[in-house]
Amino acid sequence: MVSTLDNAPPSAQRPLLGMTQAELTEWVQTQGQPAYRGKQLHQWIYGKGVRSLADITVFPKTWRQTTEQIAVGRSAIHHRSIAPDQTVKFLLRLEDDHIIETVGMPTEKRLTVCVSSQVGCPMACDFCATGKGGFIRNLATHEIVDQVLTVQEEFDQRVSNIVFMGMGEPLINAQNVVAAVKCLNQDIGIGQRSITVSTVGIPGQIRRLAQHHLQITLAVSLHTSNQALRTQLIPSAQQYPLSELLDECREYVSVTGRRVTFEYILLAGLNDCPEHAAELASLLRGFQSHVNLIPYNPISEVDYQRPSRRRVNQFTDALKTAGIAVSVRYSRGLEKDAACGQLRASKI
Ligand code: SAH
Repeated sequence: MVSTLDNAPPSAQRPLLGMTQAELTEWVQTQGQPAYRGKQLHQWIYGKGVRSLADITVFPKTWRQTTEQIAVGRSAIHHRSIAPDQTVKFLLRLEDDHIIETVGMPTEKRLTVCVSSQVGCPMACDFCATGKGGFIRNLATHEIVDQVLTVQEEFDQRVSNIVFMGMGEPLINAQNVVAAVKCLNQDIGIGQRSITVSTVGIPGQIRRLAQHHLQITLAVSLHTSNQALRTQLIPSAQQYPLSELLDECREYVSVTGRRVTFEYILLAGLNDCPEHAAELASLLRGFQSHVNLIPYNPISEVDYQRPSRRRVNQFTDALKTAGIAVSVRYSRGLEKDAACGQLRASKI
């Protein structure tokens, strides 16, 4: 059974992190405080990153003492690992002691956070380290938002971009992911257009996500234009034919007006040949989309191979020639702990 912190008994205090200013205002009033303390609380939680109400010095001392036990909802940093390119991988410890991975990736102009949406992942994609470790539970909204605040504090720099490409499948935790997106946007001030949600595709969920009319970027892990190979790489694709996945993506474009990104892991000899590029180009012809090629990051459990740079360039050029918008993503922070999810696997 999937357990989430949202399933906590109704008497339990919902963590304050993840609440809007209006909700915090309502909450302070239930505590017998004036409404303006809601705005102060909002500022201290999201702006100053306070971890305990006892530290909010603008609050009366007696109230601070009585609210000391109220959960703000911040996670603890369990481990940090800094790569030579300044990427920092964090392992965060949740309230129930489960560990998740979050990555901060700085460039000259940006600070991007790769957030997790679940503890582990149930999709079991064959090339993915997280998928090999099994699934534990969905993350609650505050546990997603916390990851961004933590990276912001650790880098002492505003986060500019967020990608839901850490552990987990965001669209099986859509309710909390959408709530987190809204909180990151409205309460922390990160533009929706700077937020990307990456999904392997869950039947009906892309259509449902479109109905929220968010301006986020939807990235779909396509990886191949061949249904048989896709099922081999992504077991859940068995119940979700490519044609249905693409129909939902088309609907997403028409409802939101946002083009879809298709992620495509390049696996040497399997899906990186010129005929695969031609097949992909023909599948996506006329589709308002962008292809993001990801040269495979080797994981120890399987023996797929990463193609050479020459091969990656040939594939990229073939797509460009066919009129497909394409970019290549070389993963960051690889020097030390290899692929995503491997740091966690090595530390727990
Ligand atoms: N479940 C979501 C988001 C998490 S994975 C999804 O599948 O999209 C984020 C991206 O990293 C996905 O495109 C995924 O396919 C890719 N990925 C996973 N393992 C990888 C590996 N070993 N090498 C390269 N990309 C990988």
